[in-house]
Amino acid sequence: MKIYNTLTKRVEEFVPNVEGKVGMYTCGPTVYHFAHIGNLRTYMMEDVLEKLLRYSGYDVKRVMNITDVGHLSSDADTGEDKMLKGAKREHKTVMEIAKYYTDAFFSDLEKLNIKTPDVVEPATNCIDEFIKTIGVLIDKGYAYIAGENVYFDTSKLKDYYVFGNQSEDELMVGVRDDVTEDTNKRNKNDFVLWFTKSKFEDQALKWDSPWGVGYPGWHIECSCISMKHLGEFMDIHCGGVDNIFPHHTNEIAQSEAFLGHKWCNYWFHVHHLNDETGKMSKSKGEFLTVSLLEEKGYDPLSYRFFALSSHYRKPLVFSYEALDQAAGAYKKLLNRISAVPEEGALDEAALKEYHDKFAETVGNDLNTAMGLTLIYDVLKSDLNGATKRAVIADYDKVLSLDLLDKKESTSSDGEDDELKAVVEEKIEQRKAAKKEKNFELADKIRQELLDMGIVIEDTREGVKWHRA
Ligand code: AMP
Ligand code: ZN
Repeated sequence: MKIYNTLTKRVEEFVPNVEGKVGMYTCGPTVYHFAHIGNLRTYMMEDVLEKLLRYSGYDVKRVMNITDVGHLSSDADTGEDKMLKGAKREHKTVMEIAKYYTDAFFSDLEKLNIKTPDVVEPATNCIDEFIKTIGVLIDKGYAYIAGENVYFDTSKLKDYYVFGNQSEDELMVGVRDDVTEDTNKRNKNDFVLWFTKSKFEDQALKWDSPWGVGYPGWHIECSCISMKHLGEFMDIHCGGVDNIFPHHTNEIAQSEAFLGHKWCNYWFHVHHLNDETGKMSKSKGEFLTVSLLEEKGYDPLSYRFFALSSHYRKPLVFSYEALDQAAGAYKKLLNRISAVPEEGALDEAALKEYHDKFAETVGNDLNTAMGLTLIYDVLKSDLNGATKRAVIADYDKVLSLDLLDKKESTSSDGEDDELKAVVEEKIEQRKAAKKEKNFELADKIRQELLDMGIVIEDTREGVKWHRA
């Protein structure tokens, strides 16, 4: 399998630390609000990556954190805590907010057929681990106390900008427009490991520590939670591109300072889903959630199909027109699949051949769009029905589009009308073709209808049609 590694900026052969086993970490949600469909693009591509690794024969252990404390409204350690902000907005306690939005997050994952990671750990479960790790960083001289907070000293590292793909000026937390400089810091890029004092309203959740009653910074949680479950060496760490800096840069800084060796070999980043106005936001414009799509009559898996149709390393622009197109193509595909009869004996050799082809094609830096194309190739092939269905079921282990489980149950009345109109138009075109004795075109139209899962019959009363 080949994968683009943000650390080396190359597509590389994926070789895990231990043969056959993969330790995978995914930065999880900050549970102060619903996930928008942009966030879910990232989780969906991570899901495909995990499933593809399993499909390729690896034994995967995937870990995800839930940020229920310590994520301030700016990634640069300033501003109000996101959880507290959510609690105030909804007149609930921080714990109630965390529970409500954690449940909502997993419900969204389920609707999009995203598997729950093997380990899901909320940050508030691991305060002891954070305190221990921070203590070691102080002992090793990588962290200092100033203004009653504990900071990581980035000047102690030879190479802090490990991803190095932005200019230093851009990355300087202190010079970014939205951030006021924290005067406690020795260096502009230093970041907080433990807060006991913030100029913003205090945290609701606080714990005792050797440095006073307080709460952890955001970055430390991912380092500690991943090391707790995956050990000192990790194979692949994932997130959206906005996580590259400062979050993942800081994770690497503190983890490698703590461990004294290289920590994670591959860094996988999903590009953003943007709306037509630019960046997707939870506060501006229409807040695009899975529930909103459902309210508008979309099957959440149409959104999965839409996301899988494009490459994860390209920004993707969301529009309802684009989603409509994807929903139409998805529906047609389901209809074509449902028209494949379960007939003939399963051809095991062909199944294996198609399996390997899929692993290789999609395994080339997660080319999900090509993976979808392979389904059409299977449908067009001369495999018997039973083998076609088995190959499609096999592909669906990775794509998770319910390719065989869903039939017309997905279509609402409105969609039936739409289908009816399309079919009737095609029947008219076929009639016209026959009248002009263009039998080739007439046959082609019949085949097109068949591909859509529609069978037509010429009867005395005229042309009749039904679903296959
Ligand atoms: P958050 O809950 O804000 O921490 O984000 C959860 C995940 O979604 C992180 O991996 C982010 O990098 C990712 N993310 C944030 N915005 C977008 C977006 N517009 N498109 C895709 N992924 C995103
Ligand atoms: Zn993280």
